[in-house]
Amino acid sequence: MTRRLGTETLVIATHNAGKLKEISALLAPYGMNCISAGSLGLPEPAETGTTFVENALIKARAASEASGLPALADDSGLCVDALGGKPGVYTADWADRQWFEGPPGRDWYMAMGKVEGLLCEQGPDADRSGHFACVLALAWPDGENAIYEGKVPGTLTWPPRGTLGFGYDPVFVPQGQDQTFAEIDPAEKHRVSHRAAAFALLVAEQFGG
Ligand code: IMP
Repeated sequence: MTRRLGTETLVIATHNAGKLKEISALLAPYGMNCISAGSLGLPEPAETGTTFVENALIKARAASEASGLPALADDSGLCVDALGGKPGVYTADWADRQWFEGPPGRDWYMAMGKVEGLLCEQGPDADRSGHFACVLALAWPDGENAIYEGKVPGTLTWPPRGTLGFGYDPVFVPQGQDQTFAEIDPAEKHRVSHRAAAFALLVAEQFGG
């Protein structure tokens, strides 16, 4: 039987204020008190894994071992079938402006263009299917872990459409829909997203009846 969280504080293994807010809100109905690894001054470990599970575990284990509390981390990205699952764990890295002059940062249009360029190299009949994946890792200080994985299948479209959402949303059309994630009402996207699917599994196992 999987270990369950008690009423103790849960460390959210992120230094991103937006992620902390989103995850805290999702867990608030279950009485969890969430604090971020950033606010505890914990260092950010290098994400050296080659899978979402490995990277989520690296972050959750580091935060749990350093704090002595249970910790939750997520790792997510876009996997394109015709590209062998890339960009995968390198989804954010493909947006890094490291090769260009100017301020460092992320350029999502460059990243979406890179995916599209690689698909175009495969010709007009390239398989444009892929999925967004989100892995949640829960880690306890004594070494126990639990993993929850959510996926949303879809297709890659071009040119990008829509101004809502973030990252690769403008080129991703979830299965069964005509609109991209960047055209869908954010509340609806949050209901059907890979992150929602992973959280539903966590909530069912950790807080379900
Ligand atoms: P991480 O999980 O913080 O490592 O981020 C992985 C990257 O995947 C993000 O920076 C986004 O570019 C991308 N990504 C993850 N989820 C979504 C999504 O729902 N829409 C668009 N891009 C996403």
